This record gives sequence, structure tokens and C-alpha cells, in this order.
Amino acid sequence: MSRYLGSACKLCRREREKLFLKGERCSSNCTLERKRGKNGPGQHGAAKSKMSDYAKHLREKQKARRIYDLTEEQFSHYYEVAEKMKGSTGDNLLKILEMRLDNVVSRLGLASSKKMARQVVNHGNVLVNEKKIDVPRYQVKVGDIITVSEKYKAGVVIKKLIEKTVSTVPTWLSFDKNKVVGTVVGEPLAGEVSHPINSQLIVEYYSK
Ligand code: SF4
Repeated sequence: MSRYLGSACKLCRREREKLFLKGERCSSNCTLERKRGKNGPGQHGAAKSKMSDYAKHLREKQKARRIYDLTEEQFSHYYEVAEKMKGSTGDNLLKILEMRLDNVVSRLGLASSKKMARQVVNHGNVLVNEKKIDVPRYQVKVGDIITVSEKYKAGVVIKKLIEKTVSTVPTWLSFDKNKVVGTVVGEPLAGEVSHPINSQLIVEYYSK
């Protein structure tokens, strides 16, 4: 299945919560907040309280897939990988998703959204341990050093982003604002992911 190219705000309305898919605008001018109380897309919308268990499992999976901007195939592949790892499948899944390079770029504040982070990586502006990596799905490891190209670093966009970034960096990453250098200092715990996700519901979705 191809990547969704429609309105990001429509996805938030579908999930009936803010998924923060559009960067800065999500904090200052959110469409969902303006339309709060109206039904989601579709004829009837959906009240979560009235959902079947299956629908709850499906919605949580879709929510996670949308937050990380993944196709159905990519997401189910990650689930299969998570299942084969030791430990909790749900925690493993969230860890894999969080440690994608595009997500790390976003969480370091080097891009305003995951979509922008993916473009920054795709355009060859991100280096891991001084080596250019232009593959958004690249999995970072503890100890990796994340930097950006001189061209990207000199741009106006990143200067504005960096002003805000330190307060938003999670504890498993560190960021040197002056040098524009990020470091992966640990692995994300379940409570440290980009957005609250109930991974157990996703496990139940795939366990059917
Ligand atoms: Fe979702 Fe952001 Fe659109 Fe709000 S502005 S509905 S959080 S994508």
C-alpha cells in the first residue's frame, strides 16, 4: 500500500486526537481544536466509548502508524521484528519506531515534524558518526552521534528550531545546542515515546 498523501489534519480527526503531524502549526493553529466536538471524517464519526474491542485495537494501530508515517506493510514488518526480539513485543515495537533515524532527527528538534525529518534525511543532510545516512528507516544505536550537513546547519529554518529544541529532547537523547550535535545516550522506555501509544492494544490487534 502506498504512503498516505492526503490531509494530515484529517488523520487527527479520524483518530479524534492531536497527532502533531504538522509541526509548529499543531501548537499554534490546530484545526482539530477549532473543530473540537464535531464528528470525524465519514458520515457518522466514531465515539471511542462505543467502539468494539477490535475497533479499539485497530484504531491504536492506525494511530501509531500515522504518527510514524508508515505504510501498512512497513508497520507490520516492524511488528514481526518486535515479536522476534526478547522481552515485551509492544515495548520492542515502540523502541524500534522511536529509534528510526527520521524520528530521532525530529525528537532532537532538527525538524519540526516527522515528515520534515524524513525529507531532511532523504536529502542527505543527516550524518551518523560522521557518515551521511539518507535512509529514514535507519536504526540508531546507543552511542551514535547525530549531526547535520553544513548547508542545513546554515539555514534559517534550523536556527529557529534549535532555539526551542533543548526543552523537548527526551532523556534517551542529548543535544548540544551550540555544536548542533545529538547523541543517543540510551534506549527509549515505553513512557518516553513521541506520543502516548497503548502498545498492548496493537499487540492484541496482531494477535487475532
Ligand atoms: Fe493534527 Fe496538527 Fe492538524 Fe492539529 S494542526 S489536526 S495536531 S496535524
